[in-house]
Amino acid sequence: MITDEKKEEKSLNFLEEIVEADLQSGKYTQIVTRFPPEPNGYLHIGHASSICLNFGLTNKFPGYTNLRFDDTNPVTEDTEYVESIKNDIKWLGFEWKHELFASDYFDTLYQYAVKLISEGLAYVDDSTSEEIAALKGTPTEPGQDSPYRDRSVDENLALFEKMKSGEFPDGSRTLRAKIDMGHMNMLMRDPILYRIKHAHHHRTGNKWCIYPMYDFAHGQSDSIETVTHSICTLEFAPHRELYDWLIAKLGIYPSHQYEFARRNLNYTVTSKRKLLQLVQEGHVAGWDDPRMPTISGLRRRGYTPESIRDFCDRIGVAKRENMIDVGLLEFCVREDLNKKALRRMAVMDPLKVIITNFPEGETEICHTENNPEDVSAGVREIPFSREILIEKEDFMEVPSKKYFRLAPGKMVRLKGAYIIQCNDFVKGENGEITEVHCTYLENSKSGHDTTGINVKGTLHWVSARHAIPVEIRLYDRLFSVEDVSSEEGDFKSFINPDSLHVITGFGEPALSEAKPGEAFQFLRKGYFAPDPDGSAEKPVFNRTVTLRDTWAKVAGN
Ligand code: ATP
Ligand code: MG
Repeated sequence: MITDEKKEEKSLNFLEEIVEADLQSGKYTQIVTRFPPEPNGYLHIGHASSICLNFGLTNKFPGYTNLRFDDTNPVTEDTEYVESIKNDIKWLGFEWKHELFASDYFDTLYQYAVKLISEGLAYVDDSTSEEIAALKGTPTEPGQDSPYRDRSVDENLALFEKMKSGEFPDGSRTLRAKIDMGHMNMLMRDPILYRIKHAHHHRTGNKWCIYPMYDFAHGQSDSIETVTHSICTLEFAPHRELYDWLIAKLGIYPSHQYEFARRNLNYTVTSKRKLLQLVQEGHVAGWDDPRMPTISGLRRRGYTPESIRDFCDRIGVAKRENMIDVGLLEFCVREDLNKKALRRMAVMDPLKVIITNFPEGETEICHTENNPEDVSAGVREIPFSREILIEKEDFMEVPSKKYFRLAPGKMVRLKGAYIIQCNDFVKGENGEITEVHCTYLENSKSGHDTTGINVKGTLHWVSARHAIPVEIRLYDRLFSVEDVSSEEGDFKSFINPDSLHVITGFGEPALSEAKPGEAFQFLRKGYFAPDPDGSAEKPVFNRTVTLRDTWAKVAGN
């Protein structure tokens, strides 16, 4: 385990090393990074890693981070996504300096394109996408020039103007950079800069019918914003040459691109496109379904910003892709919730226990701590009465040797209350135990125990008369295979059919006041988060995580 002190000493990651060297050499006096989501879905845990990295750099070194929406593709983007993204970044605990939209640069980008055309560095191509592909070549064979490659500057300027004014249908023409069809890097073989798309854009409306491609928007936007370190994931490494070429030819601010490995989590998918399918086809209840690896899903599940930041910090940055075990994410939330969660009692599978020597109709108030890890959390009252509920699994008619829970003749402590001893039990027709009869030891009250008896088992329990019904949603992995994207066939065929179990349990009365955003530990059961679907009469709780990692044992890993 990495302790806090060790974390401080942790050596710099390779990006921090680059930044530190750039500051020390005087190349920059401050750095500028950006987080550039495309607003076409909700953020997921992979994005959290990129957010922690970009904002983390400017928290550690002088400078700032911008939030830039990479909204150059009109058809997949939406304002709902813009709002959710902002909300999630703030919730994670980061503040951006400027909120920017690549679509705000459409005029500038258009001017940049005109400049390239004027300098003979771009041309309008009338080829269809199939024709372009046919001349592209392969990694081992050079491509061939398009028949439209040698158009005059004037003709190109006139055609590009007409593309902009809507005179041509979708897909009929493109603007391409004039680089080298024989280039080793396929992306340098006259890449497309603009395409025609008569589509409504979530911010610019119908003003534009030509839209810049990623490669002609991303680096240019970085440059306009004087981003010093533009960090992206590894698949963009081959784009770096084009990124640099365009900036050099345009003579604009020299931003630099650096790549790090995408973070993938096992037993789930981290691709907005796939997550959108799960939502649209109803496999989950929405983007914030607690089984989703989205930030909003994790939040609803009960994850804290601290636990997600800790997770991102522990996995760090790497240059090679690898799969991260979701067990680590769960470890991080357990660590955090152990410090913060208020302890409560809830019985999920109840068995009635009658305390035969406790007067009928009476209630005794017991007190117990809200969080043994944090005395400032105080104590709460819990009612004790003649009929209580315990978990069925906490009673055994014929106990095994190491069973320290309730059994005929045996004693246990009821958490925060008394020691009870089992004298008798009742069986139903099918042999099931329906009722257990106990007596309590009057002078064994927690905190005032004078019996001198040391019992090994402590059980959670609720007073039957005072308990409130609570809906408990128990979640499991969303997918039943570890590496979903390496499996053949439709990824949805690997959805775990048992990823959600809903039960009704019985909670202590204090739980009626639980509000979304609070965190609870149900004693001996796990960490639980109130869900907005609940009410005071019937609260709903999502199981964030169990107390211990039972999964590793089951899966045998
Ligand atoms: P998706 O495939 O889920 O749509 P994306 O890369 O297309 O992901 P963007 O909105 O373009 O999503 O990503 C914004 C930023 O987050 C980019 O810099 C991207 O590299 C980074 N990012 C996305 N997914 C991951 C991941 N799994 N791990 C690390 N960084 C990621
Ligand atoms: Mg993308």
